[in-house]
This record gives sequence, structure tokens and C-alpha cells, in this order.
Amino acid sequence: ENLNVCDYSKDFLEFVGRAKLTNLEQIVPWQDLINLKNILFGTDKGSPSLSCFRIKTKKGDLSWFAATLEKQGEFGESIRMELNDIQSLKTDYSDGHFDKMTGLYNKSTIIDYANDLMHESPTKHFYFFLMDIDNFKSVNDTYGHMRGDEVIIDVAHTAQEIIGDKGVIGRIGGDEFMLVLEKIDNEPRLREILRDIRYTIRDKYQDESNNKTISVSMGGALFPDFAKDYESMFQLADKMLYLAKTKGKDRYIIYTPFVHGKIVYDGNVMTIQKHMLMDQAKSDLMMEFLDDYYVKKTIPFKTAMERVLDTYGLDEGYVLGEDKLTSHFGIKQVSGKDGSGVEDSSLDISPITSEDYKSLFNIYPLKTINIYDLQKDNYPIFSEFMTNCGYRVLVVYHMTKNPAGGYIIFASNATSSCRLSEIDFTDLAYFCRMTELSDQCPKLPAL
Ligand code: GH3
Ligand code: MG
Repeated sequence: ENLNVCDYSKDFLEFVGRAKLTNLEQIVPWQDLINLKNILFGTDKGSPSLSCFRIKTKKGDLSWFAATLEKQGEFGESIRMELNDIQSLKTDYSDGHFDKMTGLYNKSTIIDYANDLMHESPTKHFYFFLMDIDNFKSVNDTYGHMRGDEVIIDVAHTAQEIIGDKGVIGRIGGDEFMLVLEKIDNEPRLREILRDIRYTIRDKYQDESNNKTISVSMGGALFPDFAKDYESMFQLADKMLYLAKTKGKDRYIIYTPFVHGKIVYDGNVMTIQKHMLMDQAKSDLMMEFLDDYYVKKTIPFKTAMERVLDTYGLDEGYVLGEDKLTSHFGIKQVSGKDGSGVEDSSLDISPITSEDYKSLFNIYPLKTINIYDLQKDNYPIFSEFMTNCGYRVLVVYHMTKNPAGGYIIFASNATSSCRLSEIDFTDLAYFCRMTELSDQCPKLPAL
């Protein structure tokens, strides 16, 4: 079951150039092992199966073998493999199907794979994604092409490992990959995998001061609900990837008609008719605030806060003094049978008032804290606080221009479908700055 090798011929040991052999992982490249494992576990006793894979020779290169696999023993607990060197056939299969650098499927292979899957099972549900490394050029520019290559290989293997037997991944360009997640047909499972890829890569490439160097962006959709063939599936995933990049990178976007708009075709060209309504409402609100909240002050602070929560889909809003223990002002969105509205609320952040966090605001007064970013051991107290409060995202603004200092905090609940973009964060920063400069904020105790 764990691919341990029990016995082998002397010739074979000589061929692989080893003193002894304990596990197949020592001689079969991991990308071939995945397929081999599937075949091994699917083999029934009494009916041998055939598989092709590569073996590392003593010269260090890879040689193709065809193997017959047959279960042995009373319970089929071991497998006998008869290996035939097929390298001599001189068809270099590896050149044609695999990307030399990463060992993943190359562009034409993964495209054929996706195409075949869609043709053969047109009603089977699965997710199709494109992934691109963010700011990859900076690695080439800073550390050179060789290091760049290592990063591409590492990202490829990390993603492949996380995907496991749930699908396949291929390299379709410099730092771009295609994911055919053929065994994933439900969104929570998909999110787990995409999140895992995203955070594993991001954590690996964070420097000592927690600055991101590279990350990944992914975009995709469910087949066949939103695109019925390879061509339209690719276009849709490409659009979602583009959206992920323009929304600030380091994220995955799963196409959802309600959120992203309706797909329309003009011949073979796909466009997504984005409902501008939400974006328009946000920019209208900020324009109105500049006039009536900041300059004329005809909109009181509480009303402004309510409208921000409503327009940006946030759940709670608070103002805290510089001592930041409990809130001086707080509202939260509620919905009941009388419709939805806001009610007063309070926030006690005494568990997380460590001075350590003050430096977070040194460069930019607005800080976003996402619960998923905190799942590292570095922030146990913060994680616990957010989990206890049921928050997924906290947006914290430090009022450095207010004589009494203080903080404005917005919270989005774990259950909320609200997803804030970089532009939304900028809007919130503008709103907070308008608040402190116009002296609209509730009076806080002087420092
Ligand atoms: P973005 O965040 O928008 O994705 O930008 P980026 O810096 O990641 O750059 P982009 O995806 O637009 O381009 C990828 C770059 O990767 C272009 C090319 O210089 C470089 N590149 C392409 N293939 C290879 C390769 O095999 N090895 C190395 N080291 N670099 C490559
Ligand atoms: Mg890139």
C-alpha cells in the first residue's frame, strides 16, 4: 500500500544503480507514481493490468518501462511487476507529452486531456481553472532566470501535490498553468484545494518581514454549467483569472453569474455582461460623501456608517479610542422578519491590544486582516479573537490625523458572502480619512 519494495532481481538493481531498493518513490518520478498508484490499487487479484511509467536509471536519466502488474498472496497484499524496457522503441514519449522543466503535462497534452474529458463525459461536473504566478518577473529580475526556473518548478509541484488524485495540472506557458479538477464537483471542496494552493505558496514565499514576494491568482468555473466546450471553458476561466489579477492578485475567482454577470456570445467570442450596479453604487456613494458628508456635513456619522455597511456588504462598524479597549460607537446589520436594518453593537478588543500591532499602521493607516492569513502560529491570539467573534475579515483604520487618535473598524462575518476588492479597501480608507478630517467622528477621550 505504501509502495514498499519487498524483492527484486539483481539485474534490476544494477540497472537503477542502487545498493538496495526499499520504495518505488526512489526510482519512479512522482508525476508517474500518481498514475501507477491508481492502477496498482485498481488491480484485482487474478487479472493482471498493464502500466507505463519511467524509472530513474543509474546514469540519472529516465527510461520508459511497460509493466504487467499482478496481485499476489492470499489477500492480494503484494504485487508482482514484470518490467519491460520500452525505451528501445525509440519513441521518446516524454518529449511529446511532458513539460521538460516541471515534469507536468505540457500545453498540448493538458488541452487534449481537458478536451477529451469534455467530449467523453459532456454532463459530468468538474472544475476547470487557470493559474498564473503573481509578480513572477520580479523573481527573474531580482534573483536571475535560474532561480525563476526553480520557483516555477516548485509552484508546479506544490500545486500538483495539493491536487493529488483529484485532477491534473499542466503548464501552458511561462508561469501559467491549467487545472482540470475532474474529481471535484462541489464548491466547498474546490475552495479547500484552491485555498490550500494559494496559502501554501504565499507562505513559502513571504520574506522575513512578511512581505509577499510571489503569490498565485486563479480563475475558473464549473463544467458544463457555464461553458459547454473547451473553447468557451478556457475563455471563461481566462476572464476570471484576469479579474483576479485586476482585483489585486493573490486570490481565486470562481465564476458565479450573480456576482460576475451574465455570459453572452457574439459568434464564438464570449463577453460577460457585468452588472455595473454595485460598482456604480459604491462610486456614487463616495462622490456624495465628498460633498455632503465631508464638505457640507449634512450627513451625520451614524447615517454614513450605515450606508457604508449596506453598500459594501459589511456586517459591523465600530469606533474605538486610542486606548482601544471597547468601542465608543458601534452598529451592526441585522435582518429579521421586519426587514433588515442596523442596531447598536459594541466590540471589546482588549484581548488583542498588544502594542505589537501598532507598527502595522506605520506605512498605511488601513490594515486588512483576513482570518485565513492568520492561520499561522504567529498570530494565535488574533486568530482566536476572530474565530470567537465569528469574523472573516477585519478592516482597521488608524486615525492618525485625529488629535485624539482612535480606530475605525469594519467587520465582515465568516458567513457573509461579501468579498472586498482593492478598490473597496481604498474607498474605505477615503471614507475614514474624510471622517477624521471633517471631525465627524464621535468624540473620543483626549490622549
Ligand atoms: P503578473 O503578476 O501580472 O502575472 O506578472 P508577472 O510578473 O508574473 O509576469 P507575467 O505573468 O506577465 O509574465 C511571466 C514572465 O515569466 C514572462 C517571462 O519573462 C517569464 N518567464 C516565462 N517563462 C519562463 C521560464 O521558463 N523561466 C523563467 N525563469 N522565466 C520565465
Ligand atoms: Mg505571472
